[in-house]
Amino acid sequence: MSLPRFFAPEIRPGEPLELAPDEAHHLRDVLRLREGERVLLLNGKGQEFEAEVVKVRREGVWVFPKRLSRSEPKSALRLEILIPLLKGGRTEFLVEKATELAVTRVFPFTSRYTVRSPSDRTHERFRRRAIQALKQSGRLWLPEVEPPDELENILPRLRSGKRYFAYEKGGQPVAQVFETLPEDLILATGPEGGFSEEEAELFERYGFVPVDLGPYILRAETAAFFLMSVWRYHTLGLE
Ligand code: SAH
Repeated sequence: MSLPRFFAPEIRPGEPLELAPDEAHHLRDVLRLREGERVLLLNGKGQEFEAEVVKVRREGVWVFPKRLSRSEPKSALRLEILIPLLKGGRTEFLVEKATELAVTRVFPFTSRYTVRSPSDRTHERFRRRAIQALKQSGRLWLPEVEPPDELENILPRLRSGKRYFAYEKGGQPVAQVFETLPEDLILATGPEGGFSEEEAELFERYGFVPVDLGPYILRAETAAFFLMSVWRYHTLGLE
């Protein structure tokens, strides 16, 4: 069993560090660690540090980072995904899968047929889920989880890259997307209600090619999970 991992965005070996409340809660109340125990700290920016728990109090938890224990280079293969706001924790599920599957950046969006609207806490929920998945999976790069926004506001902000959107009304066969894997890939999938024709046109205006995921209608979360899994499969062995 490896040492428990905690997240802290700024870690400097030799300088004691107070964990953020969520992480302190995890260490103190969930895992019930004590002073003197060894832990790992992740900064989400490719580094993991060995550390010791130095103070466990109701008011806060302090750890002492000792040395860099592992680092992971930034991958040249980038996947950015646009995923809809879905009910029942299904967007949270997709953020978790995206983290495990090495996705670079996640844009949760609302569109004509999304049925969940974001609250003040939605972005933080998604970020927390990514941090949990990072700690559990051992990945060292935290995906960038953008605040939820309307699809039409996100499209103009995207960086360059090959762009595809899964379109239930038809498009290029999905196998062609992965024939030669581009370094920068952007993939979008729609909500339960699908994309409107206006949205399909908007995508095409921003250089997105429609993609067909086969003869069956996949649920919104299946379509997104399927595409990120296939991308991950193709990146393994290339890095
Ligand atoms: N309500 C729509 C289906 C939406 S499925 C209808 O009945 O037609 C949710 C999303 O998953 C879609 O917007 C699309 O992005 C993706 N998707 C599901 N099945 C797909 C398929 N066979 N081909 C392409 N995209 C698909």
